[in-house]
Amino acid sequence: MENTVLASSANSTPKAEVLAIGSELTNGQCLDTNSPWLSRKLAEIGITVRWHTIIGDDLDDNLQAFRIAAERADLVVSTGGLGPTQDDLTREALSRVAKAPLELHEPSLAAIEQMFAQRGRVMPEANRVQAYCPRGGVMLPNEHGTAPGIWLETPQTVFVALPGPPREMQPMWEQEVVPRLRQRFGQTGVTIHRRINTFGWGESMVEEKVRDLTRRGHVPEVGITAHDAVVSLRIIGRGPDAEAAWKQIEPIEKLIRDRLGPIVFGVDDEDLHDVVARMLHERGLTIATAESLTGGLVAQMLSRVPGVSENLRGGVVAYTNEVKRDWLGVPQELLDRYGAVSEQVAEAMAVGCRQRFGTDLAVSTTGLAGPGGGTPEKPVGLVYAAVAWEGGVRSSHFLWGTERTQIQGRAARMALNLARLHLSSRLP
Ligand code: AMP
Ligand code: MG
Repeated sequence: MENTVLASSANSTPKAEVLAIGSELTNGQCLDTNSPWLSRKLAEIGITVRWHTIIGDDLDDNLQAFRIAAERADLVVSTGGLGPTQDDLTREALSRVAKAPLELHEPSLAAIEQMFAQRGRVMPEANRVQAYCPRGGVMLPNEHGTAPGIWLETPQTVFVALPGPPREMQPMWEQEVVPRLRQRFGQTGVTIHRRINTFGWGESMVEEKVRDLTRRGHVPEVGITAHDAVVSLRIIGRGPDAEAAWKQIEPIEKLIRDRLGPIVFGVDDEDLHDVVARMLHERGLTIATAESLTGGLVAQMLSRVPGVSENLRGGVVAYTNEVKRDWLGVPQELLDRYGAVSEQVAEAMAVGCRQRFGTDLAVSTTGLAGPGGGTPEKPVGLVYAAVAWEGGVRSSHFLWGTERTQIQGRAARMALNLARLHLSSRLP
């Protein structure tokens, strides 16, 4: 079968390195968002990024980083350090590493002067350096700022230096860099990422079912990540065009869905609240929430979905036993006998909430988010959730986690997942 052939996909494409330059990045004042953005954009045109390097505004460090990158990568893309001030050293570093002396580029100088003139100002002398280009390089015009980018080819390496501010860098990438890369590296193909999202099992349990797919060298590549209790499988399809990339993905997606069954809830950016809101909408059903330890998070998550007002009727934050009893009708006897953190109380909360709001469904959460309040029988991280519908109620529980917001996030998703499982048994 074509898509299970073993091959090293990474070696057949050009190798790229991304350099993020700026002391604000190395000292933790500013997050490097350019490198991940560039990695995704390069993947779209079939170029694999193999290294990310972040360097402060120091000439020696920059020279070293550019040399190392030039040695191991075919394409080196940098961002930052193209400004007019003394700490902007990218032009200098590039010129030295490529052994291409800096020369004044008159059209760039005119463009920078023009940019100042438009704002009724005279160009400060400092900005003149931005018009210098390493010999043999191409200046890439910047429509949103003063710093032009630089495209420079040596026999072994293509260098692309871009300005740091994302709103300058990103349009320059699309307009100036992508067409040149396509020309220089040929039609390198298309990469598509497909995420299959699951809830309910741990990462290792999911992996056990798909170990043959996640092994190194499998084509297409399949990776596994966990975030907020959602375990996702990422299929990376590659091909000369989008259709070919999807052809790699489709049979593997089907295989994964067959093996994992009902724990698969969505794809790509879909989270559980998106799926539940969609299912409620398709079936024309309403929901309400009764939340203890999640403090309204379930309702908040559902409310992120546009149009959910047709289906989400309301919710109660039932933190204390009195509110559980007086607002949701949880019998005092259950609270005394089993405690607020119990299957019985979670179910009674959902049943009572459904009656109170007059909805088709209701979900509830109750548990111990910590850090205090745990006991040997009921430790921090013990959570119950329930879903109630006409004529039925179902609950589930977990014991997991140590950090408060993490436990709350997982509890909210468990309640939403119960609603999802119930809704899947009711056809739209
Ligand atoms: P520069 O081109 O070095 O003058 O960068 C100017 C500004 O661009 C910085 O102060 C940051 O706000 C932003 N910037 C630079 N590099 C990055 C990066 N890697 N990710 C996100 N923002 C950046
Ligand atoms: Mg800088």
